[in-house]
Amino acid sequence: MHIASTARLCLLIATPSGAIAQDSAAISRLSSGGGAPMVWFALALLLFLLGALAYSLRLKQQLRHQARKLKQTEERLNTILDSVDACIYIKDLQLRYTYVNRKLCERFARKIEEIIGFDDSVLFPGFMLDSIRANDLRVIEQGRRVAYEEEIPSKSGSGMDVFLSIKIPLRGPDGDITALCGISTDITELRKSQEEVQRLAYYDALTNLPNRRMFLEQLEVATLEYRNTGAIAAVLFIDLDKFKNINDEKGHDVGDAVLCTVAQRLQNLVRQGDTVARLGGDEFVLLLRELGQSRELAEARALAVAEQVRAALSDTVTVNGQAYFTGGSIGVALVDSRRKKPNDILREADTAMYKSKDAGRNRVALFRPTMLADVAERAVLLREMNHALKTNQFQVLVQPQLGSAGRVDGLELLMRWDHPTRGVIMPEKFIGLIESSGPVMEIGDWVLRRACALHARLVQRGCNHPVSVNISPVQLRHPDFNARVKAILEETGTAPQDIILEITESVLIDDVDDTARRMQSLADLGIRFSIDDFGTGYSGLAYLHRLPLYELKIARNFIQDLPDKDAGTLIRLIIATARLLELRVVAEGVERCDQAEFLKSVGCDSQQGYLHQHPIAEEAWLEKCRSYTGAA
Ligand code: C2E
Ligand code: MG
Ligand code: MG
Repeated sequence: MHIASTARLCLLIATPSGAIAQDSAAISRLSSGGGAPMVWFALALLLFLLGALAYSLRLKQQLRHQARKLKQTEERLNTILDSVDACIYIKDLQLRYTYVNRKLCERFARKIEEIIGFDDSVLFPGFMLDSIRANDLRVIEQGRRVAYEEEIPSKSGSGMDVFLSIKIPLRGPDGDITALCGISTDITELRKSQEEVQRLAYYDALTNLPNRRMFLEQLEVATLEYRNTGAIAAVLFIDLDKFKNINDEKGHDVGDAVLCTVAQRLQNLVRQGDTVARLGGDEFVLLLRELGQSRELAEARALAVAEQVRAALSDTVTVNGQAYFTGGSIGVALVDSRRKKPNDILREADTAMYKSKDAGRNRVALFRPTMLADVAERAVLLREMNHALKTNQFQVLVQPQLGSAGRVDGLELLMRWDHPTRGVIMPEKFIGLIESSGPVMEIGDWVLRRACALHARLVQRGCNHPVSVNISPVQLRHPDFNARVKAILEETGTAPQDIILEITESVLIDDVDDTARRMQSLADLGIRFSIDDFGTGYSGLAYLHRLPLYELKIARNFIQDLPDKDAGTLIRLIIATARLLELRVVAEGVERCDQAEFLKSVGCDSQQGYLHQHPIAEEAWLEKCRSYTGAA
């Protein structure tokens, strides 16, 4: 009976719930039949089983829910891992891949099934495997986190990419290491931009030469070297003479190309261990190391290199088929004192460079302590210059030119600065200063106005000959120059034929075509041009015949040597050249009768010099002019 009712109950559990109702009568029969404990037991069991069933159903439901949630979480995790811009992977203890994210597959252009289950040999070239393995083992065997940069051949095969790889051990519930997880981030671009920042901080972007900062650091090393070993170094400060004109007139592209060529030439000149740097603009510096232990030797060696640099910069630079002349002024300072700081040495070389510019450019000067005083004076003069123009401190003197018959056939105006405290300052002290940083156009206009006014007064006295004015190359190249000249002639009512503009040969070097064009436009008006100090510059016949010239003025140093045979031959040659080009010839600086005689005998058209007349004030000349010209 007991067995039977138990079996029945089992049946109840197994059958649909409707069966419970059918058999409830039998149960009640059993209970009323005196088997009450049995019934209660069966009921309890039934309830227990019902509870167990409900619990199991709920558990199943929960498990399903958990599984769904887990799947969702896994999918979410995969989505995240796949969208991370880093290669993420898991390797087992045999260093075979058990998980890789999408980025890794893409980076190595492999399908996931081509990686999972395999080791690194499917991804990396043979030469890398040992080091990767060594790092993996450090993680797995020592349980350490490793982080390092590694270079991996780039996807394209050209060059290497830089990766930052971090590897960590993965542990099971018992704390044992079960796997290794790695994250590798491509930092190639970051590295490049870091290098770029470094490059910008220490190198000049245009020429790729070290910049001022880097140069000063190198110079610091040289000063330490001197303190420790006594090895003398030298700094060469180079400033290009004509660069500003090229840049202003031809544009920055041409200017940049010229700077790059100069940089290359300088680099070709120095030894390994020396430094060539660009400080900015057209300023370059050289650091020459270990020139010897004695000052004399180091000085001689530094000057020899400076001379080579000067020669290298004297060669024309060709850009787009056009030749440009830059030239360079060079200052030299030695690293030969324990107390000097890098910046002081650089300043000394800079000072010496200014000295060589003042001396006529395209030269080399060695720093001397007395130069510092000169620089200070230069700065003061520059400050005073603007004031000088406003307060009429500038003056002009007049020096006549005498034709073969001994009569005046021209005049040259020569500037003086009548300084209130320093006395009369000669042009060689201030013209260079005006040209480099002074009001060159304003002063040029002022001289031309004086020339026009003087001519008018001369005419009133019956002395009608042209007046020559010295024109600075900076003026001639200025885009406003022609317009300013025309305006002044109109304003003063001067005929263009009454003015001769003296230009130096150096203006013809840079861009003959452009210079010729500018000159031609003034020559078309009737203005005449003269080449001053002819023979000291670089002009050849090829240049001369392209310019609208009227006259050549033979430089004083050739005349000084007369009647020396070689000087005589040279002057004959110049006169023959002038005849060929149909130019008038004036000899400058004639001081002695024998010089005058010789010049007359070789057919020189006119002479200017102390022999005939020292430069004198305008008023004084106006008094004298009649007697020279024979005017009534
Ligand atoms: P420059 O144009 O060649 O002028 C001739 C120079 O020789 C003048 O020097 C004159 O005083 C000097 N001189 C003339 N005859 C003799 C002589 O027989 N013996 C000697 N030893 N010297 C003689 P200065 O006046 O000192 O002018 C020097 C230079 O300054 C000029 O050379 C010219 O290049 C420049 N200069 C003068 N005035 C001006 C100006 O108004 N503008 C510009 N841009 N430059 C000027
Ligand atoms: Mg002159
Ligand atoms: Mg001259």
